[in-house]
Amino acid sequence: MGNVKTIAVLTSGGDAPGMNAAIRAVVRAGIHYGFKVLGIRKGFEGLIHGDIQEMTARTVGDIIHRGGTILQTTRSPLFKTEEGLHKAMSMAKVFGIDAIVVIGGDGSFRGALDLCRLGMNVIGIPGTIDNDIACTDYTIGYDTAMNTVQDAIDKIRDTAYSHERCSVLEVMGRHAGYIAVNVSISGGAEAVVLPERTLDIDVDVIKPIIEGRNRGKKHYLVIVAEGVEGKAIEIAKEITDKTGIEARATILGHIQRGGSPTVHDRVMASMMGAKAVETLRDGNSNRIIAFKDNQVVDLDIEEALKMQKTLPEELIELSKMLSL
Ligand code: ADP
Repeated sequence: MGNVKTIAVLTSGGDAPGMNAAIRAVVRAGIHYGFKVLGIRKGFEGLIHGDIQEMTARTVGDIIHRGGTILQTTRSPLFKTEEGLHKAMSMAKVFGIDAIVVIGGDGSFRGALDLCRLGMNVIGIPGTIDNDIACTDYTIGYDTAMNTVQDAIDKIRDTAYSHERCSVLEVMGRHAGYIAVNVSISGGAEAVVLPERTLDIDVDVIKPIIEGRNRGKKHYLVIVAEGVEGKAIEIAKEITDKTGIEARATILGHIQRGGSPTVHDRVMASMMGAKAVETLRDGNSNRIIAFKDNQVVDLDIEEALKMQKTLPEELIELSKMLSL
């Protein structure tokens, strides 16, 4: 790695609460260690078009508690082309950028790897509500999103009880069921439908609802992960048809991506942001910052992107066991 003097930071892909806390940590740790820090707006798209400005300790004041990302974010199809990638590299040269810190998900890290292959120093920080990045146990935004869902569950539960209804709640998570399985436990769901498992609706959903009713339950909750495409409405209809219980589907949608980050997300983002800068200060690059065995570590980007992650079977079993 060359002598890094100027670091640029960007957010890319889907936004997540806590991204601002990560930006703040990168900027302030960067200043602390004597780097010049630039902010790239709108992810890789902003890099291509030179939407870049210098960051100071003050430009990141008053943002740690705000959801979203002050640098804004995009999904950039242009960046995925050879032409876009080369334009991005040339613009990085124009601004004298020696290293780029990419805060985003798996797709953003693949973009960072492309930059790294052309000679740019890159560091990735996992920022996505889905917790679906294989190399890390935790991604920034996950805790806040789950708390937002839990808040919705508690409200829906009140009205479901009054009307003796079944609520079918679709939650985010892209192709993964991390949010779904955790909120099925914290929300006391009768059933959870996950993209990682094939669904047998009679066994997995209808049976626990009927058994619950026969034991005296007055309302029911079914969590459906969005990765089980478009299923929430269908599942609600089938529950009504088969059990006679009125079932209503609620698709929570983007409410899960917003809001003030929890303490956990702010602290994780702060630790990961500082670690990204410290990795560069130590002369290392082309790393992904990860949370492994309760520690913030840095991993080789190519190795990190080859890793696989599976949903813990124990969580699925726990959810079932406690839904009696
Ligand atoms: P996330 O980072 O949240 O997973 P995306 O998958 O949309 O979000 O990726 C964000 C951006 O990263 C994309 O718009 C694109 O510019 C870049 N990107 C995604 N996948 C790749 C890839 N395989 N190669 C290069 N760049 C990619």
